[in-house]
Amino acid sequence: MENRDESAPPSRRRLLYLAAGGSIAGLSGCLNLPPADGELAHREPPADYCLDDLEEDVPESERTSLSISGIDRKPPGELTSKQEAGYVCHAVDGNLCGNCRFYIDDKNGDAIGACTEVAGQVRSVDWCGLWAPREEIATDEAAESVEIEPGTRIEFDGQTSGWVGIAPSSIEGLTNPSLVLHDGESYEIGWSQGDGAPHNIAIYGDSNEVIDGLQTPIVEDPGDDQWLEFEANSEMVTYICEVHPNTMVGEIDLA
Ligand code: SF4
Repeated sequence: MENRDESAPPSRRRLLYLAAGGSIAGLSGCLNLPPADGELAHREPPADYCLDDLEEDVPESERTSLSISGIDRKPPGELTSKQEAGYVCHAVDGNLCGNCRFYIDDKNGDAIGACTEVAGQVRSVDWCGLWAPREEIATDEAAESVEIEPGTRIEFDGQTSGWVGIAPSSIEGLTNPSLVLHDGESYEIGWSQGDGAPHNIAIYGDSNEVIDGLQTPIVEDPGDDQWLEFEANSEMVTYICEVHPNTMVGEIDLA
């Protein structure tokens, strides 16, 4: 479990970064920072603004859980409000709650989680000015390693409990298999069916950043846009669902 100063205020660097990005209206006022420009300070939130749909009450199963980096949730009186944290209803530069060290994964099946720092429900696909990268993504060391021939389409069933292999036949029925790929060779990876919960698939490097923009939109029904074509390289470390980064994650290795 991590030790850290829970009373520490958000860093000015992060909040200035947020203001410069123009991600929310009115943030500069609540933080006593000058607006980045007049237009940003008065921008209306987009039509799909999510904040009205996020409850202030967090279920006990999430209130009492550790974050995906093993951090305890702060007591209610010490949590930062979404407004103060600069919470926005979208990812910023590939950073999102799902890959933030403070995110508490969904525990009650509503596809919405919580945060150790910010009050109320939190969506894995959103972002705030307190974002900090999770240190590492834990893959299942017992997962089976399977060498995949170049040119293969790697197909999964997206289950919240894990990626279940469909094809090729060598991964059929395996959960989160470690994929052993050939350096510089072409592959396709994606999911063709799921459990109705929101998922996406992305390929991460060892700093938990998306590699080469390989990241699909988050959807409940995979349709036909959940496929990534890529050439394997040594920067690729995991394939992952950014909504369920604790359970739907497998390793990528090179042969
Ligand atoms: S980005 Fe902000 S709201 Fe989301 S998990 Fe991190 S600290 Fe919490």
